[in-house]
Amino acid sequence: MNKPSVKLLIHGAQGRMGQALLRLCGEEPGCEVVAAVSRRNPSQRVVDGVPQLSTGEMNGASAFDVAVDFSLPEAFDAVLALCVERKVALVSGTTGLLGAQREAMEAASTTIPILWASNFSIGVAVLHDLVRRAAAALPGWDCDIIEMHHTRKLDAPSGTALTLGAAAEQGGAHPKYAAIRAGDIVGEHLVQFTGQGERIELVHRAMHRDIFARGALHAAAWLAGKPAGIYTIADMLGDKI
Ligand code: NAD
Repeated sequence: MNKPSVKLLIHGAQGRMGQALLRLCGEEPGCEVVAAVSRRNPSQRVVDGVPQLSTGEMNGASAFDVAVDFSLPEAFDAVLALCVERKVALVSGTTGLLGAQREAMEAASTTIPILWASNFSIGVAVLHDLVRRAAAALPGWDCDIIEMHHTRKLDAPSGTALTLGAAAEQGGAHPKYAAIRAGDIVGEHLVQFTGQGERIELVHRAMHRDIFARGALHAAAWLAGKPAGIYTIADMLGDKI
């Protein structure tokens, strides 16, 4: 017997990531979008056949299993509150969250399952592990994280640069950051370890934002029905990294 599909609410549906999520969800079995929530005029169709709601109408969304949020920090509190009220899971990739929002997410995780990640690509999950190991093996080397994104990205350094920096710190390094905003770059992260007369460069290049959308949909299917708590991409990938 086929598994019932996971019912999703997509928050930030008219954004670049929201559009990728809606398109990929339509192509892949196992998930069904029951509400596409966006800030803009609901008369602008997001995708055929999907109920579209403005943010003000979000509380009236029909039953769903997981909210998938790729929006902006100012929109995050509302989707977190809705998930707590409905007792459903939240997958979020929204970056630039404030400290108080991270604390609210921690508090909410006592009642619902939450997976927030600065980057939903498998390659970056592996890069975190490589960076931690390189930092531990190279005490005293300089560590610099250089990230590049399209000109419309608002936060800098990127959420991914900061979590790569946290991995470097776990290995004992003290990373410095540089951000470049240029053209339509989807996302590149270079972690550079520099010693005396030698240098190691670990680079991840995202060629297409579908990698993040596929990762988030995979996370939604994985998270649905899990007990309350905070989960990570590493939890989802288990022994694969
Ligand atoms: P975008 O600007 O194209 O889309 C943002 C969406 O949020 C839009 O639909 C917009 O209408 C909505 N929004 C903005 N303000 C709102 C408000 N006050 N209330 C309700 N909705 C509001 O951005 P994007 O490129 O799709 O990225 C969205 C987020 O995802 C950003 O934080 C970005 O950094 C992050 N991101 C994360 C990953 C990852 O893998 N974790 C990958 C790419 C982007």
